Amino acid sequence: MKTVILATNNAHKVSEISNALDFPGWQFLTLREAGIESDPEEDADTFLGNARIKALAAHEASGGMAALADDSGLEVDALNGAPGVYSSRFAGEDATDADNNDKLLADLADVPDDERTARFVCTLVFIDEDGSETTSRGTVEGRIGHEPQGDGGFGYDPLFWPDVFDGACTLAEVPQARKNEVSHRGNALRALKFKLQIAQAKREEM
Ligand code: IMP
Repeated sequence: MKTVILATNNAHKVSEISNALDFPGWQFLTLREAGIESDPEEDADTFLGNARIKALAAHEASGGMAALADDSGLEVDALNGAPGVYSSRFAGEDATDADNNDKLLADLADVPDDERTARFVCTLVFIDEDGSETTSRGTVEGRIGHEPQGDGGFGYDPLFWPDVFDGACTLAEVPQARKNEVSHRGNALRALKFKLQIAQAKREEM
């Protein structure tokens, strides 16, 4: 059995990650489940940098176990990529999802529809027991609407109209399983799974 420490205590992410990385013999433990204290400052200016900080901290705090971390957020083209790494605290340190959505709508008030392009980005960093690092990045392209629509999802989902659904619905209006098929996190997890499989196959060839 191989244990991978997930550098999150978010139950939803845990189930999404363990369903996607369904390698035989792998089990995932959150920091809490593993009894590990790790809450490093996420002060990098990229998603990759912040995911790496969290994965390395969990790897070290666990005494060298395999560790996986993600970092994600929204990039809006008309705002030069903001809120980016500040997505969860766009409207301030203790901002709620509703506060962040209100600020996003206010900042885009004068921006016409064809310039409201945006994407969710997710970066994953996996550090294996030997310290080797595998990373992946997934995105989903879309547009920011003019008012929240839908009750599902979280964060900016009610404002985000994915291009792949061509104006039919926001990400807050699709069931979780459908979101996983198209989302930045789903895409990053599929890419990571493939990269880990390739690395494993190459090791077995040697
Ligand atoms: P974290 O990587 O889970 O810390 O996410 C950072 C922030 O990005 C969240 O608080 C949300 O505001 C935003 N975000 C990340 N992924 C999503 C998503 O799938 N839907 C909506 N908002 C998201």
